[in-house]
Amino acid sequence: MKNNKINSTRTPVYRDAGFELTNAERTSEAFNRESGHDQDPEVFIYSRYRNPTVIDAEETLADIEKSKWALLTQSGMSAIDTALSVFQKKDDERPWLFFSEIYGGTNSYIDNVLIERRGINVERYYPEGHEYDPGKLEEIIRRKKPSFVFFEIVSNPLLIVVPLREIIDMIHSHGASVIIDNTFATAHLVKPLELGADLVIHSATKYLGGHGNITAGAICGNDENLLKDAVEYRKYTGHMISPDDAYRLNTQMKSFSLRFERQCKNASAIAELLDEKDIVREVLYPGLKSHATHENAKEAFNDRGYGAIVTFSFDGKDDQEKRKRRDSFIQSVSDSIILVPTLGDYHTILMPVEPVWGYKYPDPGMIRLSVGFEETEELLNTIQSGLPAVD
Ligand code: PLP
Repeated sequence: MKNNKINSTRTPVYRDAGFELTNAERTSEAFNRESGHDQDPEVFIYSRYRNPTVIDAEETLADIEKSKWALLTQSGMSAIDTALSVFQKKDDERPWLFFSEIYGGTNSYIDNVLIERRGINVERYYPEGHEYDPGKLEEIIRRKKPSFVFFEIVSNPLLIVVPLREIIDMIHSHGASVIIDNTFATAHLVKPLELGADLVIHSATKYLGGHGNITAGAICGNDENLLKDAVEYRKYTGHMISPDDAYRLNTQMKSFSLRFERQCKNASAIAELLDEKDIVREVLYPGLKSHATHENAKEAFNDRGYGAIVTFSFDGKDDQEKRKRRDSFIQSVSDSIILVPTLGDYHTILMPVEPVWGYKYPDPGMIRLSVGFEETEELLNTIQSGLPAVD
């Protein structure tokens, strides 16, 4: 999309709430075309429906995801709400099947909105320890006949990687659709639509935005009917991203691949460093051969990297000692690595797992690092310098 009035190379931020339609004939034409949900309308009506700055950012994202279309929303949660809701049809009573190992906010949305308020018939699939069993998943699908299956390629915080190609094919063979939250792996590691997934969503708040300064979500797909349904749902619910956020996200997405590649390299170096330390009981990083789903990651990501999250646990004679070591590490790296409850920022941040997830992952020594793109040696020195304090 070009701004043809001045010789700028960018689409500016169009903050118009409504666009000028001039006369009755043009108004009627614009509204008629709007009901067809053109992806690139010639005449805009109202920014909650469509906005040129937003469309420009969506084109950047479709190029990253190699999808036919992409839609931006106010948050990752509004992208999830949109992606799932387009499958909600009157008289379709088939259940919706969710993996249990998904973002806690998504699990709360399922419990409090889908089940409690909308009365959706929800089924859940649980992993076996730190691994998925496609046979068990297939058994549930055969029995429950879900309309779709929703999962994350890399879980949080244990970083369990799904056997991606195998389960997409298996789910489709039972006539169900596949919706994937690809926030953690990102399009840099794998593009699930190329493997046949029906919809991919992202919390663009994380790696796509990449600077910890935007809350946004994205839905990508190739199916034109799903596009029409998703545009319509976003319009009715008002999940539309603001033009200002879309503009900033667009700029920040231009460097997404460069950033993420470096972040993956740093994460891999940190995982290897921590893996050598006696005081560290366990390092969960899909790039390590010791990770239970390393082979799934290798196949799905094809050597492009293994993600930028490293979860690790301090050893100790009892829970109290583990907790003490965790807290001491957090304190001693705090000048460089701060505790912030998000991920995907350009600088490394951390979260203690137990206070956030509680009984679900009750390991008091566990820390999740979201690795940034700092100078690698500097970052390794910071981590290293945090360790002796707990030795
Ligand atoms: N999906 C995943 C995997 C997430 O980690 C998050 C948030 O942390 C979300 C979705 C929700 O995104 P947002 O916070 O942008 O609504």
